[in-house]
Amino acid sequence: MQSDTDRGDAMRAMQLIENNGVLVASDIPIPAPVAHQVLIKVKACGVCRTDLHVVDGELEGGKLPIVPGHEIVGTVESLGSEVKNVAPGTRIGVPWLGTTCGHCVYCRSGRENLCDSARFTGFDLDGGYAEYVVADARFCFPLPDQFDDTHAAPLLCAGLIGYRSLVKAGDAKRLGIYGFGAAAHIVTQIAVYQSREVYAFTRPGDRAGQDFALQLGATWAGASTQLPPVTLDAAIIFAPVGALVPVALRAVGKGGRVVCAGIHMSDIPSFPYRILWGERQVISVANLTRADGEEFFALAARAGVCTEVETLPLACANEALARLRQGDVRGAFVLCPSQPGP
Ligand SMILES: [Zn+2]
Ligand SMILES: [Zn+2]
Repeated sequence: MQSDTDRGDAMRAMQLIENNGVLVASDIPIPAPVAHQVLIKVKACGVCRTDLHVVDGELEGGKLPIVPGHEIVGTVESLGSEVKNVAPGTRIGVPWLGTTCGHCVYCRSGRENLCDSARFTGFDLDGGYAEYVVADARFCFPLPDQFDDTHAAPLLCAGLIGYRSLVKAGDAKRLGIYGFGAAAHIVTQIAVYQSREVYAFTRPGDRAGQDFALQLGATWAGASTQLPPVTLDAAIIFAPVGALVPVALRAVGKGGRVVCAGIHMSDIPSFPYRILWGERQVISVANLTRADGEEFFALAARAGVCTEVETLPLACANEALARLRQGDVRGAFVLCPSQPGP
């Protein structure tokens, strides 16, 4: 079933060779899909904060060299021998969860996001900062037609993990969001669609970020050093800043929940027990399940989510990461292999 048009050809990829924060433009062989994998021609790949943690070597595990990128939108070119129900030419999305074992205690209890031997796209498996990628078709998602390739890309992690975090926040009516990046700009739209009030917290002085939050329907926006004007029912922390945990605990009421959505966070400073007392909870969100994806893409389409993206050529991956590090982004960066380089 494999197409032989590209076999043996090389492709351009932005590769992390060592954990030094710098990607190198490399020509490497186009991978061949085996078993349940499909070969995908990458149309767009979002740049996620997790990619910064990967290139900085802040996460345990992973492989080197690695092609980062786990918000991939592309079209299926060819199929591994075991692939069923996916035809060449189909548009498909590849998320962070690349494969799971299917038989550990987590996989068997609807918690494949916690699988002991899960492998992750752009971390254990080469990802989408490239012209082509292979992915296990059983873990890919069909994407609603209303999202074009570049606008769909951030949905695949910022949207999905953001959605899982929102679910973990329960039925909170007054929802705080700390860190107003790619995930927050999607979650705000979903939360507003669900008739929640969003209180958006940015770095102090980030007027642009606060204005962006208000434009997307947030009830209030301010600095993370401020207390919100009302007591919150729950808060989601997207910024990788442990110091925000006690800050958010002080902002939520009794029974309130603080959801830590990032894969990595600086150390959480000690705090007095009384800000946790009153059945407040602190929980983390890890990865995603395929069920999350099915729910989320349908909801995003229903809610008419509009992602805000800035597209860049694949060759500008380092620039995108540098600007993301500085917080110099509105919405999300998306790399497009077909966009001419500098
Ligand atoms: Zn498992
Ligand atoms: Zn991500």
